[in-house]
Amino acid sequence: MSNKITKTDAEWRAELTPEEYRIMREKGTERAFTGEYYEHDADGVYRCAACGQPLFDSQTKYHSGSGWPSFYAPVAGENVDKAADFGHFMIRTEVKCSRCGAHLGHVFDDGPQPTGLRYCINSVSLEFAGREGEG
Ligand SMILES: [Zn+2]
Repeated sequence: MSNKITKTDAEWRAELTPEEYRIMREKGTERAFTGEYYEHDADGVYRCAACGQPLFDSQTKYHSGSGWPSFYAPVAGENVDKAADFGHFMIRTEVKCSRCGAHLGHVFDDGPQPTGLRYCINSVSLEFAGREGEG
């Protein structure tokens, strides 16, 4: 899964919905408490909505009360990239899909054990697939 996906802005714009494009390519944020997966508890894997790379497992999902889907760990460290984000007058750590570079959300250090991390992720950046069947 290490093959990087590189597309032009025009290609992404053609493939993604306007809301997906705004969040995943322009680092937007969906409104709190509105996301499709905010209160989603089914068993399965959340993949990148842009390229399909597995990102988060439902077993690491928890209710943070933040208004966005929250996870304490990615399925594998190499599946997400982190970068400093100096926007909005804050220094935060941006989380991106390591395969296609899609913006997913941010990671904070106020999460639960065993990692102590809170991956605060936009539902729009995720595509859920249940564990049953072909996933
Ligand atoms: Zn991706």
